[in-house]
Amino acid sequence: MKKNKPRRLNRLKEKYRDLVKQRMSIAYRIAVDSVKKGDSEYAKKLGEYIREMSKRTRVRTPKPIKRSLCKNCNIPLIPGLTASIRVRSQSRKHRYIVVRCSACGYIHRYLYRKKVEEPGSSAQDKSMF
Ligand SMILES: [Zn+2]
Repeated sequence: MKKNKPRRLNRLKEKYRDLVKQRMSIAYRIAVDSVKKGDSEYAKKLGEYIREMSKRTRVRTPKPIKRSLCKNCNIPLIPGLTASIRVRSQSRKHRYIVVRCSACGYIHRYLYRKKVEEPGSSAQDKSMF
């Protein structure tokens, strides 16, 4: 069994985590704005800052922010501006979302599963016979 920590400490940790996440989302928003204005160097610096914040405070970067930062150059990935997004299919069930950073050319792949009903297995076909 894990030792139960005092509740107050947990609550403080929760508050701390919340503050860090807020700070991350503010930095991310500023980074996106600066990309739109054309200052990609500043956006990269902010992306690095978000990564560094996550390392130092040991607070996980929220998934939407983590996925929209380039792993290689830390620029925010905005479709049409700094990234191109394609869907590649390997088989009928497995598809990948391929995000290519247009600043450095790094390719991110995310698995994306879609339920594909096989013919004859759906409930409607069974009820017909
Ligand atoms: Zn990149």
